[in-house]
Amino acid sequence: MCHALLRDASFWRFLQLIDHDLAEQESAGGCPACGAPLHRADYPRKPRGVPRALFGPDGVRRLSFCCARDGCRRRMTPSSVRFLGRRVFAGAVVVLACALAQGLSERHRQRLCERIGVGLRTLERWRRWWRRDFAASAPWAAIRARLATPVEEQALPRGLLERWGEAFSATSVVGLLRLLAPLSRSVRARG
Ligand SMILES: [Zn+2]
Repeated sequence: MCHALLRDASFWRFLQLIDHDLAEQESAGGCPACGAPLHRADYPRKPRGVPRALFGPDGVRRLSFCCARDGCRRRMTPSSVRFLGRRVFAGAVVVLACALAQGLSERHRQRLCERIGVGLRTLERWRRWWRRDFAASAPWAAIRARLATPVEEQALPRGLLERWGEAFSATSVVGLLRLLAPLSRSVRARG
């Protein structure tokens, strides 16, 4: 099931449209530091865990902006549903792999990793991230406050996916990726 979604070109096109909307909204007010106009300054990324054929040999463009004013020049990289922070794997892979791994023995987690093309140590790091870093984050506190019935931190991310119905449907995965999108936003001086 997860394979079908990760290989579905229309799923990725939909995520791309959402990313463009997020970029438009977040760049509309100009530079977050000084208010000057922002210029597009996208950069290439090659997200892993997704068939290359879906994106072409050059990968995809991470939407990004640079402040036009000399002396500021900050780079604003907007929220994203395709990428999850600086991880090399696409956000959907991180979400699906961790949700599928819940309740599996280590041997079965190993098999899952082989299917998705993720190392077991990477998967274990992502799992710790959900339970420890994400569970302690401000976005999670905000999400948790809006939930009618609580989701235990130990049940992340699957417990959260199930809020939208079937855990591994496109609706659930897109819903969760939208909640995670602000984690990928950054504003930094250009080094
Ligand atoms: Zn600026």
